[in-house]
Amino acid sequence: MNASEAVSGVHRGLFIGGQWRDAEEGRTFAVDDPATGLEIAQVADASPADGRAALDAAVAAQADWAATPPRDRGEILRRAWEVVVDRTDEVAAIMTAEMGKTMTESRAEIAYGSEFLRWFAEESVRISGRYSVAPNGATRLLTLKQPVGPCLMITPWNFPLAMGTRKIAPAIAAGCTMVVKPASLTPLTMLWLADVMAEAGVPDGVLNVVTTKSTGKVMEPIIRDPRLRKLTFTGSTEVGRSLIEQSAEGLLRVSMELGGNAPFVVFDDADLDAAVDGAMLAKMRNIGEACTAANRFIVHSSVAEEFGRRLAERMGDLTVGNGLEDGVDVGPLVDADQRDTVAELVDDAVSKGATVLTGGSAPDGDGWFYAPTVLTDVSADARLLREEIFGPVAPIITFETEQEALDLANDTEYGLVAYAFTRDHARAVRVYEGLAVGMVGLNQGIVSNPAAPFGGVKASGFGREGGAEGIEEYLETKYVGIAL
Ligand code: NAP
Repeated sequence: MNASEAVSGVHRGLFIGGQWRDAEEGRTFAVDDPATGLEIAQVADASPADGRAALDAAVAAQADWAATPPRDRGEILRRAWEVVVDRTDEVAAIMTAEMGKTMTESRAEIAYGSEFLRWFAEESVRISGRYSVAPNGATRLLTLKQPVGPCLMITPWNFPLAMGTRKIAPAIAAGCTMVVKPASLTPLTMLWLADVMAEAGVPDGVLNVVTTKSTGKVMEPIIRDPRLRKLTFTGSTEVGRSLIEQSAEGLLRVSMELGGNAPFVVFDDADLDAAVDGAMLAKMRNIGEACTAANRFIVHSSVAEEFGRRLAERMGDLTVGNGLEDGVDVGPLVDADQRDTVAELVDDAVSKGATVLTGGSAPDGDGWFYAPTVLTDVSADARLLREEIFGPVAPIITFETEQEALDLANDTEYGLVAYAFTRDHARAVRVYEGLAVGMVGLNQGIVSNPAAPFGGVKASGFGREGGAEGIEEYLETKYVGIAL
């Protein structure tokens, strides 16, 4: 199956009020296959009027949806989970075709992303409040939770399904309606999901999907519309900052899942086998195109050489190629810009003295591939220690003392996730308490888990997705003072 065949069954329109429709004046834009650079589909290119129609539909559906019994909302999510799991291979091929990751990685994302549907199916019937006696005994205090209201969800291209379900599932569970805007590089997975959600029983208008290339022009009027009550965004810190400014006017509830610059710290007492396995996961999951990707390997000087050699062997053994083909470990980066950025960052580090242990260049030929790369002797002023690499590149720097490791790890504006490998229990506690991040992987190279609160601090944003915390983002707290 080629990429065009993989996406042939997907709707290409806007999904508004339960109907598929064309964009105003029939405008469309192209979606390309990163493995070949060739166009695989044209999808609807929404105008500001189309965006407004989607918000109209979400607003019209809000009251009935909030009044729908929690069990019914949960059952819809549960059915959606079953359908997504049953149709894993179909959606994995769509995702690989538009985003590039291998089929194995797409299936892994679907296992992860679908789990939010099941998790929040279970959470929908656990929304509760509190009843208490005021300290002076004169009144009673009733605390209840209600849906926030219509939400706008803007998602990135790197996890086309999971970044959507992490928002959609808790919103549905809480009784919120929504307009979803997937990344224009990878809209097809979300269009596929819209169809599945409708099939699972999501009522018309509760979930609306708008695809557009005029992103800012279509999103800003929605964000500034007083009927919108929440904005939830996953993407770059730069865009997140400007969306926070826009949302100030309506004083929206805001959740921001932004960029990262994850440190991966290996102490001298670490289990090196576990550290190398963890490094492969933390670096190579999603071709390095993950906000959680290890961006800086901070390794004790006594084990740095062995760690670097073993990591380079593993990285060098990976097969790079078209993600739709069997036997491929690493697909292409998402587009030419992303590939060029990665190449620039590596060239900058090498020009400042870094040694290439493996990789270090883009292979010849079609598609946006970059070789898995390990760098040592990386100088402190190399750009890739400050900027998100978003590619298969592992720069190694060294440290001597525990405090130096922590200082290096925290020396970034970001604070999403950090990884630490040590067998010393007391050190582990000091380190996870001292890391300025929202999540820590202790002796493991992955933190994403639907049952855990995902999110960051500092320039990585605020708000949490998943876990018991995830549904709170879509609930308001109301208190009623009851006179006796
Ligand atoms: P991006 O450029 O910020 O785009 C993310 C989304 O925002 C896309 O849907 C994009 O639409 C939209 N967008 C762009 N400009 C906009 C504007 N002016 N107004 C409204 N929406 C706008 O980020 P990306 O390159 O897709 O994603 C990579 C970034 O996401 C990385 O920084 C990564 O760390 C971060 N990320 C964070 C998490 C997390 O949970 N913390 C998870 C995954 C990714 P178009 O596609 O149409 O431009």
